[in-house]
Amino acid sequence: MRVGELELCPVSDGSFVARPRYFDDDAHPGARPDVFDRDGAAWLPIGCFVIRIGDRVILVDAGLGPELQYLPDDMYLVGGQLLTGLRAVDVSPGEVSDIVCTHLHTDHVGWLFDQHADPVFAAATIWLGAKDWDHFVDGPGEMAAHIEAGFRRCAGTPRLRLLNQDTPVAEGVTAVMTPGHTPGHLSVMVESGGSRVLLLGDAITCPVQLEEPGWHSLGDIDPVLAERSRQRLCLWLADGRTIGVGAHFPELRPGHLATAEWQPVLSR
Ligand SMILES: [Zn+2]
Repeated sequence: MRVGELELCPVSDGSFVARPRYFDDDAHPGARPDVFDRDGAAWLPIGCFVIRIGDRVILVDAGLGPELQYLPDDMYLVGGQLLTGLRAVDVSPGEVSDIVCTHLHTDHVGWLFDQHADPVFAAATIWLGAKDWDHFVDGPGEMAAHIEAGFRRCAGTPRLRLLNQDTPVAEGVTAVMTPGHTPGHLSVMVESGGSRVLLLGDAITCPVQLEEPGWHSLGDIDPVLAERSRQRLCLWLADGRTIGVGAHFPELRPGHLATAEWQPVLSR
């Protein structure tokens, strides 16, 4: 899709098989049959996005990589398709100038480095929230050894940009701090020619969360802060000119919030 002067293209690395329990411990396995199939599974994508602006090719999130990862309660992730997907939209790995990681969960960093910890996108500068570095690279957060080793090789070089505040990445592309799902989670605002698209990462995992009161996200590290960030994002998505899409939205299709159906709860 075009966003003013920019081109935005979703590419999925594979599937995230989620169940209602991902969103609420007490959710009934048969809840929301419009989203979950007869076995109670929602086949959500592992979304990445390509933004082209001038001679920059910006990749937002780097998928799970060629891996299968099991989660509790019969949920799992299967990746491996990102490079093929990029080829299909005419992007070679060497062309990628920047990678913005919304956060450092395994299904967003999997293609950054290969098994030898060498960069898959050799020319790319990697942007991420500094607090995610503290949590996942230096702290207790789970991270594959080859990804951690790759990150450590980048530390202190111009290839790595650790962000503590809302920061422009390119003209019309801004990393916006939306912590809670992870300590340094960020979203990406893409804005040009009066059009605005928010790439939400996992700040909102699936639109069904906005329709079911109390549904959060199993992966939220700080649920209270995550909810506050969701409210901030929802105000944008309800302004009538902003559309948004998360990394796991069905078919990676952006949408806006119909304000009539949604009441902002700003204090809780
Ligand atoms: Zn994710």
